[in-house]
Amino acid sequence: MSAQPETPDCDVCIVGLGPTGLMMAHLMALRGLRVTVLEREPERYGMARAVYTDDQCLRIMQTAGLVDELHREMRADLPVRWLRKRDSTLAVIHDPRRTYGWPTANFLYQPAFEGRLEDALGRYPQVEVLRGRELVGLEQDADGVTARHQECTGTDYGKSSPRLTEGSQQELRARYLVACDGGRSAVREDFLQISMSGKAFPQRWLVIDLRAKEGAEPFAHLPFFDFHCDPELPVVSCPQPFNRHRFEFMLHDHDATEDFEQPGKALELLADFVDTDSVVLDRQLVYTFKALVADRWRDRRVFLAGDAAHMTPQFIGQGMNAGIRDADNLSWKLAEVIGGHADPVILDSYESERRPHAKAMMNLSVLNKVLVSTGNPVLTTLRDRVIPVARRTPGAATWLRQSRMKPRPRFRRGTFVGLPRAVHALDGQLFPQPPVRDAHGHAVRFDDAIGHGWSVIGIDVDPRRLLGLSERQDSTTPEPTWVDLLPAGRSAEVGPGVLPLELADSEVSRWLDKHGVMAGSIVVLRPDRFVWGVVIPGDDESFRRTVDFLTTIPPGLRSHPRTPRAVAAQSH
Ligand SMILES: Cc1cc2nc3c(=O)[nH]c(=O)nc-3n(C[C@H](O)[C@H](O)[C@H](O)COP(=O)(O)OP(=O)(O)OC[C@H]3O[C@@H](n4cnc5c(N)ncnc54)[C@H](O)[C@@H]3O)c2cc1C
Repeated sequence: MSAQPETPDCDVCIVGLGPTGLMMAHLMALRGLRVTVLEREPERYGMARAVYTDDQCLRIMQTAGLVDELHREMRADLPVRWLRKRDSTLAVIHDPRRTYGWPTANFLYQPAFEGRLEDALGRYPQVEVLRGRELVGLEQDADGVTARHQECTGTDYGKSSPRLTEGSQQELRARYLVACDGGRSAVREDFLQISMSGKAFPQRWLVIDLRAKEGAEPFAHLPFFDFHCDPELPVVSCPQPFNRHRFEFMLHDHDATEDFEQPGKALELLADFVDTDSVVLDRQLVYTFKALVADRWRDRRVFLAGDAAHMTPQFIGQGMNAGIRDADNLSWKLAEVIGGHADPVILDSYESERRPHAKAMMNLSVLNKVLVSTGNPVLTTLRDRVIPVARRTPGAATWLRQSRMKPRPRFRRGTFVGLPRAVHALDGQLFPQPPVRDAHGHAVRFDDAIGHGWSVIGIDVDPRRLLGLSERQDSTTPEPTWVDLLPAGRSAEVGPGVLPLELADSEVSRWLDKHGVMAGSIVVLRPDRFVWGVVIPGDDESFRRTVDFLTTIPPGLRSHPRTPRAVAAQSH
């Protein structure tokens, strides 16, 4: 007699309900997974840490069906400035393009942001959020993970050790567990003994969160995200929604942390920037920062994500955003594997795809920290001379203004789930989100039109007709969305089940041209909008492999990710 397959309590147990856990839960639930979240804190955290998010992460929030309500509560599209002394501008970053459909610099108030995300989980009956439950142990076997959890009355968000209630332990069985339990992850440190590599920075920064007093407008004169590169007092000034503002001041070696965590000193520093009678101090806290990456992001059925996997110094505001990218990457892969549509081998690509980008962001953040806070006279002189020259030099000026130093969302060759050959420049790149019109001429968002699964985009061609594929008979494997992407001004007759989308401008056509993707080509997009592969006319090998991929069940079997270990070795 054969054993009955096990039915676990949930598909995925997520540990931690910070921004990473929240986005992970949304993106998994969207794809039909049954999710249980364990969060040790019984109440929501009332204080902000992250303030900035970018266009790529807004796009991920769009996939999760959340972007409109979240973006409404952000200060969107603000210019970023580097100032030598106050009001002497070194550089301005402001990119008016909307490559991914959203502005590049957006500012949020984290408690409101997280509150919206948590409330919105209520739309998924298959998501269970267990607040006040601490993960206290885990075991794995060939079929799943057993998570032991216990009642916790809180840690005051890290200020004290978890207060656990005796006799309240329970067990939960899941197919996989994703640790989104933050920088001090117990899953990473205690249960899996995975160490982190990188660097901790000794400089202390005083972070002050302010809000306006009733009826006052004390921040109206501070509409930019400003880095004051003043060797005597490096300062970051950061607008927030809801009439709030954040300042960060670098402390000197002789400054005592205790003094600066008192309102008196904080107000002294603020007096140069705002009318201190019009503001309320929400908190002032001294931080040091780390650039650390976990040596492994996976142990069999357990994954690390967000700060548990990588800790990014806050100087370019990418810590939370990296966690959102992790959620985007891992959620669809787990959904495909659990749904039986892909080989579990694709799960190794989570780390091989995400690690290089997370590390590159970290390096940029450290560079920005040095640029803003260096007291080295040679470096400051270099910075203050080179950047103004760059601003006057046409190519360099655009590079600066459009923030092209930011690591591109692109996977390295041979490390990602894609067409099993890496010859085309578009492979592994994040596809833009162009403005498009549907068959009725209505403006629609590209991603909303293509949905949250795989999509096959014909460039001015009906892709299904070109590949000779009729509608799949097998109803258990989700169909990709078939799109005929037409240049502006063109309409076309398409076959059944193919969506015609007309580009509203020529930006994406130019981008495709630049990469040699001409009319009659096909671009296959993964559920996270990264290019799986391109078939250009005459490339018979790619044609054959793409047809194989689209007709093979499970499709992921034909992917070829390298092992994370190989990639880690490359990137060190
Ligand atoms: C001053 C400052 C400014 C920043 N600015 C930005 C910014 O502008 N943009 C940006 O992108 N990032 C920024 N960051 C970084 C960002 O805040 C973090 O990267 C982000 O909060 C990490 O999210 P997370 O969900 O991975 O972890 P966390 O937010 O730390 O959440 C982890 C959760 O897990 C829970 N937990 C822990 N252990 C257990 C357990 N055993 N059982 C159950 N639950 C558990 C915790 O209670 C917590 O709720 C900033 C950070 C700081 C400090």
